[in-house]
Amino acid sequence: MISRRLISRWRELKEEEKREVSPSSGGSFYILLVFPNTYSVGISNLGFQILFSLLNRIPDVVCDLLYYPDEDVIPQIESGQELCSFYLERTPREFDAVFFSVSFENDLVNLIRLLRWMRIDPLTNRRDDGDPVVIGGGIVPTANPEPFAPFFDAVYLGEAEPHLPEVVEILLDSPSKRDFLEKVSLMPFVYVPSLVDVEENGGFLVPKGVEKRRTFWREFSEFPSTSVILSKHSSFGSAFIVEVSRGCPRRCSFCLSSYVCRPVRFASAEAIFKIVEKSGEKKIGFLGTSVSDHKHLPEVLERFAGKREFTFSSLRIDADIRFLEVLKYSGLKTATFGIEAATFELRKRIGKPIPDELIFERVRWLSGHFETLKLYFMVGLPGETEEDIEAFGRFISKIADLFEGKIAVSLSPFVPKPFTPFEREAFDGYPILKTKIKRILKLLRPVKKVHVSYDLPKWSQLQAMISRGDRRVGLYLAGEDRKLDQKRYLGPLKGSLLPWHFISVV
Ligand code: SF4
Repeated sequence: MISRRLISRWRELKEEEKREVSPSSGGSFYILLVFPNTYSVGISNLGFQILFSLLNRIPDVVCDLLYYPDEDVIPQIESGQELCSFYLERTPREFDAVFFSVSFENDLVNLIRLLRWMRIDPLTNRRDDGDPVVIGGGIVPTANPEPFAPFFDAVYLGEAEPHLPEVVEILLDSPSKRDFLEKVSLMPFVYVPSLVDVEENGGFLVPKGVEKRRTFWREFSEFPSTSVILSKHSSFGSAFIVEVSRGCPRRCSFCLSSYVCRPVRFASAEAIFKIVEKSGEKKIGFLGTSVSDHKHLPEVLERFAGKREFTFSSLRIDADIRFLEVLKYSGLKTATFGIEAATFELRKRIGKPIPDELIFERVRWLSGHFETLKLYFMVGLPGETEEDIEAFGRFISKIADLFEGKIAVSLSPFVPKPFTPFEREAFDGYPILKTKIKRILKLLRPVKKVHVSYDLPKWSQLQAMISRGDRRVGLYLAGEDRKLDQKRYLGPLKGSLLPWHFISVV
């Protein structure tokens, strides 16, 4: 029996959507596209929407969606009631293939749970030809597929647009799962873990005798992506999203997107202009890792001034003032910036050398236009000293003096990511991070108007393990390996080869 609570939740959400794409009718091959996090996180993910649209354009394919259920639905699922897909309300076993799009490391935990709830054995080696083929993709498994290796029959490495339809066509033409996997394993951007042996190297299990590369979409500049589903539950509100850049030229040493999503591409001004003009939407959100590095976007903003409302996914505080002007008069209540460290020395060390004076000048300039200024910082960065922690008191006090509204400080433990210059750096560890966060909280307690929130170090530690893990980490999370030496993955890492070094991202 399908969970009634889940069906009514899906129906409420569907009714509130405005859609350009729905599962196509008339096809006979059913693909379930899964986002292993809740609806509001999944619907905010443009990559997930792009996949939905792309898969439904393939002849004979019907693609439906599934999200991780809300907390109040989980007890029903745990007690044996079934999940169902979002639009067609079919049970997962009625699909021929399951695709996972993974954007966050810790969603691996949800993914394993979802497979169980879908009545599919999480482990590939326990599944047979009667089970749907399970394919994974997204920035996290592209950067390091190894922790996902026990669960995915195949991993698609990179951007979906150029080659995913080709992979699906092979799937449609293959007489068996084995035949499909053998064929796609020959493609440079598809990794089939079950066909690759691993060997011990410097304490890690490393894939042996295989080389793969990430694929990227060359035509992005002329055909930028846009949202196909609008929902007020998205982090963009109901704004129509246009992706204006992929990759980022700034190369901050901790940033996964900057090192994995290569090369840097910007949507052409002409393409953006046409999309905005054609869309009847009043609110337009520009998304990208590097929105404020888009040289021609200010021209587009000027051409539509007064006719449309614009927002941005993220801006650097040292962005071209024309972007900040738009932000200032956007009507948004909160202005958000990643500052990362409270001293210039540490910001310089991590590749984000924005001087204190420039930050203070911009804060003063934004003051009076927003209720809240939200600032993101990291704790436990490589090279961080006691002085960098102590500086939080002075730095935030100065900002609180300059800004009229409330200040929200968000602290995240630094998590080393594959392919970045910090990929071998140590994760600070649970007790040290706890002490540092406690100290910052104490320093900021006397500063009026400041609210501090932080990510729990235990979740960041899990993220660090998945980020740089091997197959044993996946098996451990599935409850199949109880003796995992967690410290091995928290670094510093010394092995000559790391689990993701068989992939080329350039
Ligand atoms: S500016 Fe932002 S997106 Fe670009 S490299 Fe730095 S952190 Fe990453």
